[in-house]
Order: sequence, then C-alpha cells, then structure tokens
Amino acid sequence: MASYKIFLLPGDGIGPEVTAEVEKVAKVLSDARVATFEFEKGLVGGAAYDAHGKAIGEDDMARAQAADAVLLAAVGGPKWANVPYDVRPEAGLLRLRKDLGLFANLRPAVCYPALADASALKREIVEGLDIMIVRELTGGVYFGEPKEIIDLGNGQKRAIDTQVYDTFEIERIAKVAFELARKRSNKVTSSEKHNVMKSGVLWKEVVAEVHAKSYADVKLEHMLADALGMQLVRWPKQFDVIVTDNLFGDMLSDVASMLTGSLGMLPSASLGEADAEGKRKAMYEPVHGSAPDIAGKGIANPIAMIGSFGMALRYSFGLGHAADMIEKAIADVLAAGLRTADIKGDATQTISTSAMGDAVAASLQKTL
Ligand code: NAD
Repeated sequence: MASYKIFLLPGDGIGPEVTAEVEKVAKVLSDARVATFEFEKGLVGGAAYDAHGKAIGEDDMARAQAADAVLLAAVGGPKWANVPYDVRPEAGLLRLRKDLGLFANLRPAVCYPALADASALKREIVEGLDIMIVRELTGGVYFGEPKEIIDLGNGQKRAIDTQVYDTFEIERIAKVAFELARKRSNKVTSSEKHNVMKSGVLWKEVVAEVHAKSYADVKLEHMLADALGMQLVRWPKQFDVIVTDNLFGDMLSDVASMLTGSLGMLPSASLGEADAEGKRKAMYEPVHGSAPDIAGKGIANPIAMIGSFGMALRYSFGLGHAADMIEKAIADVLAAGLRTADIKGDATQTISTSAMGDAVAASLQKTL
C-alpha cells in the first residue's frame, strides 16, 4: 500500500479545528487500505510568529519542500494586526507559494444540489454547477517591477504597478488548463483584456499557440475578462475550465465562489512545475480565511478543508477514485440534511465541526 507524507499546517483561527477533521477522513482511507498518510505538523502564520517571531520557520520550510504535499488551513487574525510587515501571518503563505514555485492556482466552484438555495443566484442557474478556475499565481501585476509610489514634488504622488508576463509563464499555465480540461468536459475559456492590454495580446497569442501545437482536441474559446465576469453570473454552467492571469483570476474566482453558497465549502490547490517524473510541488488549502469571529466555538464548516485533502489525493497522489468517493460522501451528507451553521439555510438544526467531520468519514466508510 502506498504511503504519502503530508505536511500539515493548521495555522490560525479555525485552522486547527478544520484540519482535525481531515485526519478522520484520512484514517478511513488507511483503514480501507486505499493508502496510508503520514501527517507531520508545522507552524505558519500567527501561530509561527507567537512561537518564534517568524511567519514560517526554516525547519518548516524544509519540511514543506520534502513533503509529498502541503495541506494548509488558514492564517491571520486581529491578534497579529500590528506585527511588522515582513513577519505578518500572510508572509508565511506567500513564502510557501514562492519557494515551492506554485504558479498554478486551481479553484473549483461546485454547487451541490442540496445547497443550491444557499447561492445568491437562482437555483436553476447554479444547481449542478462544476467549473474550475485556473489562476496564474506567481506573475503579473502583483509581482511586476517597478512597483512603487513616487512623490512628484508638486503635491502629487504617482502609484505604479506593472503587469508583466513572459511567454513561458503563459505556456505553462495554459498547459495545466488544457490537461485539466481533458479530464473534465474538454473545454477551456482563456480570459484577458487584449483590447486594452499588451499582456492580454501576448496571453491570447500564446494560449492559442499551445492549443494548436498540443491540445487541438480540446475546445478553446477566448473571452474578455469583463465579459467573463458578466457571463459568470448570467449563465455559469457554460464554462468548464477558465484560465486567466493573477489579477483577473483573483477577482473572477471570488465571484465564482459566491455562486456556490458558502466559503466554508470551497477547496483549492496550488501546483508547481512538474519534475522529470511528472511530480509537482503542491499545496492544498481551503479558500476561506481563519474566521476569527467563530474560532474556538466548534462551529466551523470543515468541508472546504476535507475537499482540499480530496484535491491532494487527485492531483498529487493519483488517487482520483478516492477523491471522487470523498466528494460523494460530502454530497450524501448534505443530501441527508446535515448542516453546519454557515450553510444552515432553512434547516432547523445545525451540527458542530466535529460532527460534520464524523458524518463525512462515516459516509465515506460506507461508500468504500
Ligand atoms: P474569512 O474567510 O476568514 O471569513 C469570512 C466569513 O466567512 C466569516 O464570517 C467567517 O466566519 C466565515 N467563514 C469562513 N470560513 C468558514 C468556515 N469554514 N465555516 C464557517 N464559516 C466560515 O475571511 P476574513 O474574515 O476576511 O479574514 C479573517 C482572517 O483570515 C484575516 O486575518 C485574513 O487576512 C485571513 N485570511 C486568510 C486567508 C488564507 O489563509 N488563505 C484567506 C483569506 C483571509
């Protein structure tokens, strides 16, 4: 039986509560002899700052590099609002992304039928929705230089951010999107603003070249980012895989997250370059933050965290079937009417974080 080393970073706020539920699900898979998972725990964010004054320590960075996958919950909270900028909790997250070279951020937006009424949109628009947003994560305007505020000396200042993309950065993210589409509904929508941005012109050109060269079997469409934002709320089910840059991806994936009802439901994956054996550095984390408003109350929804573990099975360990079974277990638990407070809807009762984890684990055990 294969064994995988997972570096677990519970982080802050509700992090430790939701990661505990992942360990229950992993145990069910080990007991069923699907695979074994060795969890090694580290510190990131405010928890790391409290322990040693850094947002992540060197030992933990080394363990992240050596693991088969990193599983992180969330960082941050009001307690660390005034710590120095370079050791703020988010710095730990950014260091992990940068040092592991995680250039591809995968954010699925799936609307479980049982939760369709929790969406801000009408049931028929979102029920059964299953799209994947692939956001470029290490380039573009968040990192481009120059990035500065200049004092013009006449009472005016000038702020500059620079949007930069090189061919290789667009090629590699396009490949990730096309490969994913082949395993899904075989369609990629590439999004930029080629009508007003040079980086958009190059983005469109390179994606089209990668498509023609290696992925002509996948349907490709190009859509301007503003039009895509509109289409996402008009008729999101027209999309399968959406690939876009760092800035547009940041916004469009947040829009997509609202289609599905609750932040507590959404997992994500961040992947690096494949090595010679096709293995990628990878970090899996829920989309939500550390939710300080509900931390310690035992009411957080652990599904996004469990779903992130499911993505690790699919994208890092080649255990797609087990990942499908986890998703089915989640869907079954929701269909049976079990709800944490954030997805309560019309339900009369809610259950705790731990009871939701137990229910998903039990449902998985039955399915296996
Ligand atoms: P948040 O995602 O933590 O919370 C937003 C709202 O959603 C809150 O009302 C919260 O209670 C609720 N919520 C979030 N996850 C939930 C879950 N699993 N179950 C039930 N309800 C849930 O965002 P925020 O309040 O803007 O940020 C709080 C802290 O988290 C800040 O310090 C922020 O910087 C940090 N943050 C971290 C990450 C990350 O680690 N990747 C992402 C976003 C925000």
